[in-house]
Formats: sequence, structure tokens, C-alpha cells
Amino acid sequence: MKALLDKLKIEPVNPGACTGPDGWISDPEGKPLVSYNPATGEPIASITQASATTYEAVLRQAAGAFRTWQTVPAPQRGAVVRDLGTILREYQAPLGELVSLEMGKIRPEGLGEVQEMIDICDFAVGLSRQLYGVTTHSERPGHRMYEQWHPLGIVGIITAFNFPTAVWSWNAAIAAACGDTMVWKPASAVPLCAIAVQHLVNQVAGDHHLNGVFNLLVGSGSVIGERMLNDTRVPLISFTGSVSMGRHVAETVARRLGRTILELGGNNGIIVTEDADLALVTRAILFGAVGTAGQRCTSTRRIIVHKSIAADLTERLKRAYAQVTIGNPLDDGILMGPLVEEQAVTDMFAALERVKQEGGEIVTGGSRLPDKGPCFVEPTIVKMPRQTSMVCEETFAPILYLMEYGTLDEAIAIHNGVPQGLSSAMFTTNLLSSERFLSATGSDAGMANINVGTSGAEIGLGFGGEKETGGGRESGSDAWKVYMRRQSNVINWSRDLPLAQGIKFGD
Ligand code: NAD
Repeated sequence: MKALLDKLKIEPVNPGACTGPDGWISDPEGKPLVSYNPATGEPIASITQASATTYEAVLRQAAGAFRTWQTVPAPQRGAVVRDLGTILREYQAPLGELVSLEMGKIRPEGLGEVQEMIDICDFAVGLSRQLYGVTTHSERPGHRMYEQWHPLGIVGIITAFNFPTAVWSWNAAIAAACGDTMVWKPASAVPLCAIAVQHLVNQVAGDHHLNGVFNLLVGSGSVIGERMLNDTRVPLISFTGSVSMGRHVAETVARRLGRTILELGGNNGIIVTEDADLALVTRAILFGAVGTAGQRCTSTRRIIVHKSIAADLTERLKRAYAQVTIGNPLDDGILMGPLVEEQAVTDMFAALERVKQEGGEIVTGGSRLPDKGPCFVEPTIVKMPRQTSMVCEETFAPILYLMEYGTLDEAIAIHNGVPQGLSSAMFTTNLLSSERFLSATGSDAGMANINVGTSGAEIGLGFGGEKETGGGRESGSDAWKVYMRRQSNVINWSRDLPLAQGIKFGD
């Protein structure tokens, strides 16, 4: 562990705030935060969190840096992001391992998380030459109209524990290409990943003589988070986290008429039709429900299966779950690591108690695994007679609910009958069923797949969800537009002043 931490410049005690290569701030008023390995419950290292005083210093740097960064030509900003992608390639293994160590996802998923960072950097480099606005024809003679996109300002990035590095990069790579500066507040369970990323960013920033573009503030939600939400110097808050916290973020930022990107909880379902390829769907469900120990926003939580094949699918899932190797996420051959902290274990078993009261029947799993460590659990499948109130909640743990349906309309009604709307899928070999699922009256989620599971999105499309998931879009496609301000321009190159709509005024 020491060699890994050394490689990533993690000290036993780390400053929690940084504004660039020379800008680490060890706050004398800052409270300590200890980061624990969820696989063993042992401390890894600690961080001196930022206080309100440091917050002010960092915000001033970010605001100052924006004044010049916004004037750097976008392709040159893209060159900085390209270098970020290069250093991430170089450090993919240690950074991915730190993600596993601190968050608990297995090593291949930790490496995959860093790959996502690399991919979004590649995307943002190309984007830096494609920040297109439209032109259109004016109704007035001798006039030209077009839209252009200007940098927005400081982006506040508040991230969840489960993707300790990738979610930052989805925002940071795009925001940097768009000419914004940014302040990152990571989740308190995974501060070391953020410190490690900041060290890598600093190397790139140093090469480009940049200070104040990429800033870090490790601190509590009540001190640092609240300040960001209420700060009019931060025009955009990109928030990833739970629905309840997202609601507070939305209300607070809306009160000052700021902008938000909300990436909140999901409750993702897969409809399995009677003609589905059951071998394929079994593999997809296994990865979706057990991967990251059910702690992805896109984790598969609900299976809505045609009653004619429900018994067959249940048997296949039981067999597949029996093969899941559980243990230290850094060990070879392990498929599932621990939950992030003991509270998550408590929450999982409280949820299981409630579903049992609601008529749920455990098909497999349902136990803690204390011999492996305090945060280990069995992945669990629960057969539900109907979609009860507990099923409508997101429990951030490996619980999978199985429900049966008779008609496709019924399946879609069950699927859409939850408050969240992030990711969804249908496994089918029937074109009519798949088109129905993707139609306007089909899945109401932000992402809808056919014969592809709910989790493991690529960066190319917009990522995000509807309803209580918050409506935000990040990552690829045209998600960049939220990170910029749109300006509509009309230019009159005639010597007259015709008014729009043919209005005559005093002539
Ligand atoms: P959380 O809501 O507990 O915390 C999210 C972030 O909010 C953390 O950084 C936390 O420190 C911060 N925070 C806490 N109090 C705050 C305050 N008063 N003001 C501002 N920020 C504050 O979520 P979590 O447990 O870290 O993550 C799990 C949740 O995140 C799940 O619901 C999951 O579905 C969701 N998530 C969603 C997506 C998505 O893209 N839709 C991606 C990852 C995770």
C-alpha cells in the first residue's frame, strides 16, 4: 500500500485544498478527515479539510484565473486537456488501484473508471475545436444572425463517493475545454482519490503555467458545500449525489437563479420479454446488479420478467450469483468488494427487513459476511409480488428485485412506476417490443438500451436521467452547452434600421 500511495504523492497527512502546482493549502483551522479502507476498516491516510477561510482564498484564485483562461483560444485549452489524458494514461494503474482501495470497487472497475477519464479527455480535446453555434437568416435585409458560446465562469463540482474520480473528469475535461475554471468538492468517504487526481492535474497545470483553473476543496457539505451552493460567483453547480441532497441543491441554487446539473439517484429496471436471449440477459443482470456491489447510480435494481420465463431466469440468476467471488477488491478473481462503509450495510439490511414485510421473498443472499470484514454482504435477489414502496426507493446496495408481468403495457407501467428515471433496458429479440420500449410512451428514463444492461455507459452520449434523477446531462453529445453561456448576435451591415416583425416606429 505504501508504494501505491507514494507513487500518487499521498502522505500520511495531506492538505485538503489546492489551487494549482504551487497552491496546496494546509488550513490551520481545518478539521482532520480520516480515509478508511472499506475492505479492512483500517485507516489509509488523513486530510486537513478546508475551512471557510480557505474557501475564500480558493474562490478568489478561481475567479482571477477565469479572467485569463476564458481568453485562451479553445484549441489551446484543448491541448491542456490532451496532456491531462496523457498523464492519466501513464498513471491509470496506480490511480485505478487507489479507487479500489478507498472506494471498494474491484480492480478492473477501478481501472475502468480511469479509462473513462481518459476517454472524456479525448472527447473534450476534439470538442475544443467544435464549440459550434448556429447561424440563421434574418428577416431583415442587410442583417446577419448567429449564436456563439462563451465561457461561463467558475463551475462548482460536487461529487458522490461511488465514482471518486470519473465524475470529476466528466465535468472537468468539458469545463476546461469550454474555458471555465472549476472548484471540486469530493465526497468525504473518498478524499484521497481527489488528492491524487489533483497531484496529476498539477503536473499538467505546471507545464502550462496555469494556476487557479483546476481547484480542489476537501471539506464537509455543511461548510464547503453550502458555501458553493450559495455563492453567486459560481454560476453553475454540477452536483452528483442522492435525490434528497439534490433537492436541497436545486432549491438553494435556484433561489439565487444559478444553474445546476443534477445527476441524482436511479432505480434502474430491465424488462425481459418472453423471447429474450436468457444467457445474454443473465450476464447483463449479473454485471448490472452485482458490479460495484450495487453502488452505481445505474446499477440494475429491478427485473420485470415475463411470467412464462420467470422461473427459468430465476434459476439462471441463482446459479450465476453462486459463482460470485467476494473479497478484497484488489485481489485477482474477485467480482464483488465491500460496501463503502458500515452505514451502507445497516441501510441494506433495513431495506431487506422492509421488503420482507411488504411480501418479498429472498431467493438468494440476504446475509452479512462479517468474516470477510465489516462492510461485506451477500448480493441478494428478492422476489416481489408487486412493486411496493420499498422497491420504489433506491437502496445503494446489491439488492435486486424480481417482478413478473403479463402484457407489455403492464411491463412498461411497472418499469415507469418509480420516481427515478436514470437508466433502463429491455432484453428482447422482438423488434416490435424494442421499438415500443424506445417510443415516446415506452421507457421514461434518460437512458434506454436494447440488449445492453443498465450500467456501464460510454462517454459519447449525454449521461443523465429524468424525474427525480434530476434532468441533468453530462459527458458527451452536446452536454457541453450547459458549461457555456449562449449569446445571440444580430449584425446590421446595411445603412437602414428596419425593425423585426415589420414594425414602423416614428418613420
Ligand atoms: P450524497 O448525496 O450523500 O453526497 C453527494 C455529495 O454531496 C458529497 O460530496 C457530499 O459531501 C455533498 N454534500 C453533503 N451535504 C452537502 C451540502 N449541504 N451542500 C452541498 N453538498 C453537500 O451521495 P453519495 O452517498 O455520495 O452518493 C450516492 C448517491 O449518488 C446515489 O443516490 C447515487 O445514485 C447518486 N449518484 C448519481 C449519479 C448520476 O450520474 N446520476 C452518479 C453517481 C452517484
